[in-house]
Amino acid sequence: MLSEFDFIRRHFVRPSPGTRLGVGDDCALMQPTPGQELAVSTDLLVAGRHFFEDVDPGRLGRKSAAVNLSDMAAMGALPRWVTLGLTLARPDEVWTGAFADGFYHELQAHGVDWVGGDTTAGPTTVVAVTILGELPPGQALRRSGAVVGDDVWVSGTPGDAALGLRMLQTSIVLADQDRRYCLDRLETPTPRVSLGLALRGLAHAAIDISDGLLADLGHILDASGVGACVEFDRIPRSPALDRQQHLADWQMLALAGGDDYELCFTAAAQDAPAIQQAAARAQVQVSRIGRITAATQERCVLDVRGQPLQVSWHGFDHFRTT
Ligand code: ADP
Ligand code: MG
Repeated sequence: MLSEFDFIRRHFVRPSPGTRLGVGDDCALMQPTPGQELAVSTDLLVAGRHFFEDVDPGRLGRKSAAVNLSDMAAMGALPRWVTLGLTLARPDEVWTGAFADGFYHELQAHGVDWVGGDTTAGPTTVVAVTILGELPPGQALRRSGAVVGDDVWVSGTPGDAALGLRMLQTSIVLADQDRRYCLDRLETPTPRVSLGLALRGLAHAAIDISDGLLADLGHILDASGVGACVEFDRIPRSPALDRQQHLADWQMLALAGGDDYELCFTAAAQDAPAIQQAAARAQVQVSRIGRITAATQERCVLDVRGQPLQVSWHGFDHFRTT
């Protein structure tokens, strides 16, 4: 059995080219770009809540980095540095090595340095990641910036991660290729960092979809003091989700399914072509799915005939469901 210190040396010390002093001392030392604002965010992933205990550790490592990168994306920030707090229920070399590799590789793909953290044994496995990024002052994509008349946009095809989760939790059967696709979307989401950066100066408000499209759009509406009307048929669907229309609540997978880590954002209607160009540069598909309205309480989803769908705008709430 390795000591705590050997453990750290073996798995957590990685190259950190954008950092003055990385893992190993009492603090890490970083030199922020002069004139930039710092963006900071923390996320917790708890075994049995956010991930299954037996999930592949490499994929869990990737996702732990990805969900934090996604917060940077949603703010339009350039991610730079992370720290990792890790509580391990069973300190296990193989598991930790695979986790650390997955975590590091996802960060490396985005040019982010792993600069420190803390490691303990404890009753449950908990992953706590803090990420730091930079952006020009005043350019953050806040939740509070939506304006009446804005288009509502979403990236990617929401609902796939929820379909993957449904597959793991129930007996629904998917074709092999759909199964793999949805599981990848659930376990290794793609943070839309390049899209977030491309939306600076264009999007009025943005959020990443962790709790469900409507719930997270609802956060933008609350913060901005506006309403919204979404047209269900404009929300793009993956072939995998399209093939599940026999499920009674298949529409809710797209509207209320969490864990997609796509971006939902608003922008002036006249900027629609610029948004499409920005998304093309970022190589991400984006779709206009609705409109911001003045009626603060208005939250509607229309079906293809223009009839309102009866849906809840409330997403997953950890305090309500425990
Ligand atoms: P301290 O007692 O000062 O908290 P530690 O022994 O906990 O120091 O950590 C020693 C070094 O290892 C520190 O630089 C710390 O940032 C790093 N470290 C510990 N755990 C992790 C981790 N999970 N990821 C990255 N670095 C870590
Ligand atoms: Mg410590």
